[in-house]
Amino acid sequence: MKINTDVLHAEQERDPVYGSHVSPLYQTSTFVLPNFDEAVRLNQNIDQGFVYSRFGNPTVNELERKIAYLEHAEAALGLASGLGAISTAVMSVIKGGEHIIFGDVIYGCTFALFTKVLPEFHVTYSIVDTPDPAAVKAAMKPNTSLIYVETPANPTLKISDIEAIAEVAHRQEGVKLIVDSTFASPYLQNPLDLGADLVVHSATKYLCGHGTVTAGVIAGSKKLIDKARMPYLQCFGAVLDPFAAWQIMQGMKTLGIRMERHCENAMKVALFLENHPMVDHVYYPGLPSHPSHETAKKQMRGYGGMMSVDIKGGIAAVRKVMNATRVFSLATSLGNVDSLIQHSPSMSHFDMTQEERHRVSIFDGQVRLSVGIEDADDLIHDLDQALSKVHERSKDEVSN
Ligand SMILES: *Cc1c(COP(=O)(O)O)cnc(C)c1O
Repeated sequence: MKINTDVLHAEQERDPVYGSHVSPLYQTSTFVLPNFDEAVRLNQNIDQGFVYSRFGNPTVNELERKIAYLEHAEAALGLASGLGAISTAVMSVIKGGEHIIFGDVIYGCTFALFTKVLPEFHVTYSIVDTPDPAAVKAAMKPNTSLIYVETPANPTLKISDIEAIAEVAHRQEGVKLIVDSTFASPYLQNPLDLGADLVVHSATKYLCGHGTVTAGVIAGSKKLIDKARMPYLQCFGAVLDPFAAWQIMQGMKTLGIRMERHCENAMKVALFLENHPMVDHVYYPGLPSHPSHETAKKQMRGYGGMMSVDIKGGIAAVRKVMNATRVFSLATSLGNVDSLIQHSPSMSHFDMTQEERHRVSIFDGQVRLSVGIEDADDLIHDLDQALSKVHERSKDEVSN
C-alpha cells in the first residue's frame, strides 16, 4: 500500500479481548507470568513475550513495528527522547579509542555528546561540512567507526547526500552511518533506502506532531537494533513510557496530511520572507537559492516545515520580532501542528560557542521557524506585522 494508508493500517493489531478500535494502552511496568517454568523461559528469551516494561511493552512494541514499517527497516526501538535514541544508537556502534565524523550543523545536545561526553571515553572526532562527500572522505581515518549526519540539519537546513556518504562509509570495513532524519520524518525521506545503517528521530517532533510527549526512535537492521536494545538500552534505561508511545501512534495517523500542509505552508512563508526588506537570508531547502536544493530534490519527497531566517538588525531586531508574533509561539521544539519561533543561538544551539556558530552560519540575528498547519495567510500576516515592529521605537526608547 501507499504511505497514507500505511500510516493508518500498517502493523495495526486487533484488540484480542474487547475488539477496541483504537489499540489498547498497556500502562504497566510488569507482567504476571503463568508459572515458574514459563517465568524462567521468558526471562531467558525476552523476544518471545513480555516480562518487564524496560525489556519490552506491547504498546511500545506496536509503535516500534509501525516505525520499522515506515522506515523500511527490519526493526526499530522506542526511547524516552530523541537524545536517548541518539546516544543509545551512537554508543551501540562505537568503542573507546575510535574516531567519529559528524556534520558541522547538528542539534546542540548531539554536538555536546560528541564534543564533551565521548572524548571522556577517548573517542576522537572530526567535524565536517557533510554536504561535501569529498570532505567526509578526506576526514576518514583507519580507526573511524561512525559517520553521523543530520539532514536536513538543525537549524540551517543543510542537506547531505545520504547515498554518497553511505558509499564513503562502507568503502571501509566496520564504518557505520547514522542519519538523524527528525526534520524530514519518514514521510519525506527514508535514509535506510539510501544506504544508512541506522536512522534516528526525535519523535517529540513530527512523528507525535502535537507537542504532548518527548520520545525518540531508532530503526535499522535486526542485528543492530537487537544490540542497541540489549545490552545498551537496557543498561542506559532511556525507555519509552507506554502512554507516550500510545500518543505518538495517535499523532502518526495524520502524519501524511500534516506533512503535506507543513511543506505547502513553509514554501509560501519562505517565498514571502525571501522578498521581505527586513530579511537578509532565508534558509529553506525548497528555495532554488538554497545551496543544497538539488540534493533535497533528489532524496526527499518534500522540503518540510522548517526554516531559519537572518533578520536585518541582528539580535535587537530579533528581540522585537520574537516579542511581537501572535500566531507563532515563542518556544523551542518543532514539528507541532501549530507554528513556533525560536532563537537558535541562545536556545537550541547554546551548547556551541559564538565562534563555532558563526563558522557554520548560525548568526546572532537568526530565528528558526517551525511552520505549522494554520492558514498560510495568517502565518504570513503574523510575520509581516512582527517584522514591521523592528523600526518602531519601543516605549522605553521613547521615554529616554
Ligand atoms: C529535537 C531534536 C533532537 C533531540 O530530541 P529530544 O526529543 O528533544 O531529545 C535531536 N535531533 C534533532 C534534529 C532535533 O530537532
